[in-house]
Amino acid sequence: MKALAKLYSQPGIWATECEIPEVGHNDLLIKIHKTAICGTDMHIYNWDDWSQKTIPVPMVIGHEYVGEVVALGQEVRGFAVGDRVSGEGHITCGHCRNCRAGRRHLCRNTTGVGVNRQGAFAEYLAIPAFNAFKIPDNICSDLAAIFDPFGNAVHTALSFDLVGEDVLITGAGPIGIMAAGVARHVGARNVVITDVNEYRLDLARKMGATCAVNAASTGLKDVMADLGMTEGFDVGLEMSGVPTALRGMLDNMNNGGKIAMLGIPPNDVAIDWNQVIFKGLTIKGIYGREMFETWYKMASLIQSGLDLMPIITHQFPIQEFQKGFNVMGSGQSGKIILNW
Ligand code: NAD
Ligand code: ZN
Repeated sequence: MKALAKLYSQPGIWATECEIPEVGHNDLLIKIHKTAICGTDMHIYNWDDWSQKTIPVPMVIGHEYVGEVVALGQEVRGFAVGDRVSGEGHITCGHCRNCRAGRRHLCRNTTGVGVNRQGAFAEYLAIPAFNAFKIPDNICSDLAAIFDPFGNAVHTALSFDLVGEDVLITGAGPIGIMAAGVARHVGARNVVITDVNEYRLDLARKMGATCAVNAASTGLKDVMADLGMTEGFDVGLEMSGVPTALRGMLDNMNNGGKIAMLGIPPNDVAIDWNQVIFKGLTIKGIYGREMFETWYKMASLIQSGLDLMPIITHQFPIQEFQKGFNVMGSGQSGKIILNW
């Protein structure tokens, strides 16, 4: 089968041929229709320090996809050939304490599709049926292909009650932009999002942000004054991984504010802990998606009218994958879909 793989220990990604994966007793074999490029794929493409330590070579990468079930292991129940599915890319052990408590996203033994095991940038993908999620008929395949990062946005945004609250999102990457859409959809009052990339700030406006601010030129105090906010933000969603963005968020939270942190900062970021203590802030780290509450919420958010389509800015046939990686690397894009 055709696949995109990290074939060499250097920057880049390569088209290759490999074996169709074996289907274990509990697995589904999925014929891939659409995939999307994730920030993680860009790290692997660029062959940064993390990738060099983490990714075995050769490795078929990719974990954002939608496809069709073409074969089932003999133990699989609840799926049929022809089902349209996406899937949770974190494969969990099922026997650690968190798994057994139903907190699968906190499994200590997680492996990642397209990171530690063969990925979805291929004609076929085999995953445990447990990890597959059936896509309702009224959700289009373009959106289904981005359920993985949409799930990061939903998991983070729904960590705290947003109804009537003033929400600050730092980082208008694809995930921050989707989180802005979710926050508005569920009833936040003001949704302020920051970035330093004007293209992405524009996308965030299209997705419903009340105010999309260039952090390089505009201070949050001025934004709050314009919006008539006198006290500070109630909820913060950190989605940039940038230390100055986190510090700015801490500065502008109201007392008792709640912060959900998805962005992955560099090691050893210093913050002013007095902000956390004397403001009585709650900070929650977010990893992955809740299995499978986040997935049901994603489907329901779309079915209840959340329009996510603006986040998909580019589509390429798989033969033009290099163009996709180039556009993604330029920062002038939302989500990019590769059609198989
Ligand atoms: P991204 O890199 O596309 O988005 C980050 C954005 O932050 C960029 O648009 C960048 O321009 C912006 N930024 C840079 N400096 C800034 C500043 N000073 N203030 C505000 N914004 C600034 O990433 P993404 O794919 O949207 O993911 C968001 C973050 O979440 C990343 O850090 C990613 O590594 C992380 N992530 C975490 C998980 C998890 O499970 N915890 C899962 C996926 C992604
Ligand atoms: Zn586990």
